[in-house]
Amino acid sequence: MISEKNWAKELAKSLINLNQLAEKSIVPASDLQDLQKVKDTFDIRVPNLFIDDIVKGNNALAKQFIPSKNEIIFLPEELEDPIGDSRWSPVEGIVHRYPDRVLFKPTYLCGVYCRFCFRRNKVSDSANNIKSDNAKIAIDYIKSHKEIWEVILTGGDPLVLTDKILQKLLEEISSIEHVKILRFHTRIPSVLPSRVTDSLIQILKNTNKSIWIAVHMNSSEEFTEEAKTALAKLIDNGIPVVLQSVLLKDINDTNIQLVSLLKSAIENRVKPYYIHYPDLAKGTEHFRIPLKRAIELIKGLRGQISGLCIPHLIIDIPGGNGKIAINTHTARESKKNTWEFESPLDGTKITVQYP
Ligand code: SF4
Repeated sequence: MISEKNWAKELAKSLINLNQLAEKSIVPASDLQDLQKVKDTFDIRVPNLFIDDIVKGNNALAKQFIPSKNEIIFLPEELEDPIGDSRWSPVEGIVHRYPDRVLFKPTYLCGVYCRFCFRRNKVSDSANNIKSDNAKIAIDYIKSHKEIWEVILTGGDPLVLTDKILQKLLEEISSIEHVKILRFHTRIPSVLPSRVTDSLIQILKNTNKSIWIAVHMNSSEEFTEEAKTALAKLIDNGIPVVLQSVLLKDINDTNIQLVSLLKSAIENRVKPYYIHYPDLAKGTEHFRIPLKRAIELIKGLRGQISGLCIPHLIIDIPGGNGKIAINTHTARESKKNTWEFESPLDGTKITVQYP
């Protein structure tokens, strides 16, 4: 049995400053001054589990987690709140964009700080975590809105909460009759698999709701033996796991890399659900590929690999205009790099600049 102490110790071993990265020759000392500007804006956390592979030159892991000077290049179309969470936030911690479901964000801390994160302006700062009075207001909001069928715990990463806090939170949500589904958005099974303890499983199983895990993984390299064990433990205990990925330049934007990721998921009983075109978060241009190429990449999978492996390509239309599955029918390039979408929320036509 893995104790809570073990995963906390493991988390404490992650690399969180530039000197640690320089000591392991992950970043050159000559870049430290520029990278300090990045670190001052967007925090660093590199999981202990990936350090050896990054030192050996694994690019898919390094590009996702090691800061780059490109992150302080901000484009005019990049936004602090790219998917418009604040537009749909009636009370702190809740985003109520679609009628039958809410996002609930109890923490902004994570087991890793991804360099492309769409909430990078918020994550890592514990001052952004919801305080207990406001958490109560958030729960009361869910209680008073009978149309809420699903609560999606996200953040940050809800599985970095301690067992005690998580248990209390889940007990509160479990007491709400009209909520039937509890979904966790998490990177934990991949970046901190030791967190998937017996006691965590028990806490999840103790709720009287249908629990789903949407695990965030972007490359087949993240399916380490430890991650496979953590995923199997969830699934063997009756907790279904789906995969959410981000389509990222140099990480999973070739047919070979993408097929390898998607097949790894199915081989581990994880169903690919969404692959997101990267949101327009600040300083993330170096992760985006042309949208036209993204559409072609996903289209090319059909017929090549089992339909079980194929996710929907998703865009969260900036400004809080909702998510759509992208294909040649739902996205139109009106002129070079200018794309038109129709909001699924109210049918509004939205124009967005993408490469
Ligand atoms: S784990 Fe998720 S919320 Fe945290 S930094 Fe990565 S993408 Fe952002």
